[in-house]
Amino acid sequence: MDDSAIFPETNLIKQAVDYLRTKARDSRLCDKLGSGHAHSLVSAALGYKTPQALKAAEDEHDQWIGQRPMNVPMIENAILRMSSPTIEASQARKIADIISDGLTPRCVACNKISANNIPVGDPEFGDSCEWICRSCVDAEHQEDFAACSLCDKPFRIEELDRKGLCPEHRGEFDYDPEELQDMEDFIEYHTKDNG
Ligand SMILES: [Zn+2]
Ligand SMILES: [Zn+2]
Repeated sequence: MDDSAIFPETNLIKQAVDYLRTKARDSRLCDKLGSGHAHSLVSAALGYKTPQALKAAEDEHDQWIGQRPMNVPMIENAILRMSSPTIEASQARKIADIISDGLTPRCVACNKISANNIPVGDPEFGDSCEWICRSCVDAEHQEDFAACSLCDKPFRIEELDRKGLCPEHRGEFDYDPEELQDMEDFIEYHTKDNG
């Protein structure tokens, strides 16, 4: 097990670099993508000219970094600038997609790396949280997570009420206290009338 599996949030840049190297090989984009080249491509995807510039801006990065649009023209330029490239500039779009997957936190349930993973709960954009893939939320054997029956966002099961509603939508189908009071008054009034 590598570090990124144990600490899924610690370093998404490193996760993206490792993932790009493995994926480029497995998908036959490139037999051997060196670590330096992979770092250059990830930096370019995020709009930085060099890995040093990316490193200097590390504080600005959060778990949502993979959700940003990737900079395909800068990836092309990075490839064209390489002294002995092992990858073609025409593959920049594919590389961007792989990097965007690699920059997204792993699914907390199955460990899958994908840009389609979604945050658990209802965090603010930029907040740290658990991430999960859709098939793990919807899996029948899933005991720890479920989607809110109203907004469909994934939550830890203990966050949902008995009707399967998230904290935001809890009580959505109940009457509020004022409505209840009005109904009681109405009933009382008519009961009296009828004697
Ligand atoms: Zn999953
Ligand atoms: Zn909800």
